[in-house]
Amino acid sequence: MAKKLIFPAFIFGSVLLGLWLFSMGISFSFSALAVIAGVMVVLTFLERKFPHRVAWIPEKRTAVLDVQHTLLNSIFFSSFAKGVVAAAVTSLGLKNAFSPIHGLNFWIQLAIALLAADLFVYGLHRWFHRSDLGWKIHAVHHSIQKMHFWAAARSHPFNVIVITGAEVLVLEALGVSTEAILAWTLWMSVNGLLQHCNLSQDTRFFDGWLSTAAVHRIHHSKIAEIGNHNFGTTTMVWDRIFGTYLSPLVQPEPSEMGIQNLEIRSSYRVHLRLPFRI
Ligand SMILES: [Zn+2]
Repeated sequence: MAKKLIFPAFIFGSVLLGLWLFSMGISFSFSALAVIAGVMVVLTFLERKFPHRVAWIPEKRTAVLDVQHTLLNSIFFSSFAKGVVAAAVTSLGLKNAFSPIHGLNFWIQLAIALLAADLFVYGLHRWFHRSDLGWKIHAVHHSIQKMHFWAAARSHPFNVIVITGAEVLVLEALGVSTEAILAWTLWMSVNGLLQHCNLSQDTRFFDGWLSTAAVHRIHHSKIAEIGNHNFGTTTMVWDRIFGTYLSPLVQPEPSEMGIQNLEIRSSYRVHLRLPFRI
């Protein structure tokens, strides 16, 4: 029973805690950061205590690499993309272009934000996998061979800038409320940690429609024919509509994660140079 509650408890618990902090007068950024950092602390403990695969317990030799990616991507590169795109949206007069959404029920705004941002990211993620240029940008993320939440941020800065830029563009243009953007930020961030984490959890109830760990591990398969599925970041809605959904009920969990015939060294410098080397 506890295994079934992990996914909804983390997602809804994080959203509600972040909204409560924000309602107490704490800033948007600090409310989001405090909740995400808290989730990371709890997951560090849970992953070691209840691992999905013992072989995936994080190694000390990749700890520095994962901290570098986490800090630089989540703080520096994503903030850079947010600032540039938000300024561009405002100067082009696109901000709140669909502003009637602002007046809708909070949960409806959140659902619209999740689906709309996921549609753009779904499209970009498919492009990452199907074009040479996209793959150069995205390959670093698929260098993950041991799925644990610290590896979630293992992405090239270009990958982070493109995805964050698209998400900010959608959310700014939609004109959803600040509370809905905070809830979306927490849902998306905590979901990102959960879908990569090495925690024994039962997500069968959600696997059909949301991007859970079981669904996302299929995407990280070393075999490209299997991995070219389940592109959604938070939902499986667009994968279902466009025919790229592969259910964990049909496809057993891949034994190996990573990229076939390509070994990428666990070094931040190697990761930064990768788009210019493959
Ligand atoms: Zn991918």
